[in-house]
Amino acid sequence: MGKGKLIVVSGPSGVGKDTVVDNIINNNKGFWKSVSLTTREKRENEIEGVDYYFVDKDSFLKNISDKNLIEYAEVYKDIFYGTPKDIVFEKLNNGINVVLVIDVEGAFNVKKIIPEAILIFILPPDMKELEERLRNRKTDSEEKINERIEKAKIEIERSKDYDYRVINNNVFNCSNEILNIINNN
Ligand code: 5GP
Repeated sequence: MGKGKLIVVSGPSGVGKDTVVDNIINNNKGFWKSVSLTTREKRENEIEGVDYYFVDKDSFLKNISDKNLIEYAEVYKDIFYGTPKDIVFEKLNNGINVVLVIDVEGAFNVKKIIPEAILIFILPPDMKELEERLRNRKTDSEEKINERIEKAKIEIERSKDYDYRVINNNVFNCSNEILNIINNN
């Protein structure tokens, strides 16, 4: 059995990247989505161990010093996210395609360590639609929403260095575009 492919997917908060990635994973065999550690508060609809492993900062710092993470980033002020190392390599060695849904900084760090990783950035159809999606989620305060919009603008600029950029006009089309990219790599 060959090695699995490492696919790194990024995109601004609210672009629908989790929906696209879940659609790919649920409808295709041989894919696995990594579950990150985060120090952010759990949202009401989220499940521990499915959406994230929710940990406190001390525990997160211990995972860094124990070298348990492939990469980590302070995505928002004082909120850390990181990708567990062992399980990802175990899946890849078992021929499973691993999808990481992580921010731009994390993606570039993964590419440095694993150059064959495929970096894919999902773009919103336009900024106005992204703002509407963020507001409609009703999960975050106005301050958090504005922080996410400002971060989105910076991320979109940095995404020019990704291997691929796809627009999420529609979950089905976007998923197919990503599947084609993976198959051609
Ligand atoms: P949210 O808090 O909305 O779930 O995610 C916020 C951001 O953190 C998203 O851009 C998401 O891609 C990013 N993120 C989630 N997990 C990781 C991770 O393990 N590492 C890095 N660098 N970013 C992550």
